[in-house]
Amino acid sequence: MKRLGLLGGMSWESSIEYERIINEGVRARLGGTASADLLIRSFNFADIELLQEARRWDTAAALLSDAAANLVDGGAEAIVICTNTMHRLADQVQAAVAVPVLHIADATAAAVTSAGIGTVALLGTRYTMEGDFYVGRLREQHGLDVLVPEEPDRTMIHEVIYGELVRGVIDPRSKARYLEAIDRLRDRGAGGVIAGCTEIELLVTPEDVDLPLFPTARLHAEAAVDFALADSPP
Ligand code: GLU
Repeated sequence: MKRLGLLGGMSWESSIEYERIINEGVRARLGGTASADLLIRSFNFADIELLQEARRWDTAAALLSDAAANLVDGGAEAIVICTNTMHRLADQVQAAVAVPVLHIADATAAAVTSAGIGTVALLGTRYTMEGDFYVGRLREQHGLDVLVPEEPDRTMIHEVIYGELVRGVIDPRSKARYLEAIDRLRDRGAGGVIAGCTEIELLVTPEDVDLPLFPTARLHAEAAVDFALADSPP
């Protein structure tokens, strides 16, 4: 089994789910008392949030790259960046290490494509919804048509993430507002919805939505299990 290096704490509310899902996946495949071989670097999210707000992406890239290199020094054979937003820096992190950075958008796109969906909605932070690093990858590398929410839904979705979800607050009123935003995306032609922030799946689950919902933390964590166990007997 390969050792995985997780860049977490962005926020820890979702990175503990990564740890759980990866360990559950290893146990399901190997049985007995098997569990994952993990190194986890958990950042102080308050520091990360300030860098994001100030658009100090180069400073953040240096922070994540150094941390990834330290995980590789500790034996990590792949890097898992446990947040969609910070995949904005995935190329810089990849340039700093000689092991693969397992990209969250690739794991997500594989699930969307295998569900036969061509037009998909993307919910996430403002950085993810408005930047090209995520939407562009889905479009250009995976051939998906991507819809992002219009205003004021876009601001509402972003503010619920930073004001509630990363603070451990799960509010049914916010869930209702998310579901209304998803209804509007379905009316615009979305055949599925990417929960493109790793905390959204703590608020909205597939059972809540009458379109297929793609939970990025889960899909990314499952792809990490596949990588870790690629050489292990079935
Ligand atoms: N975990 C979130 C994401 O998947 C947002 C927090 C962050 O900015 O990293 O985008």
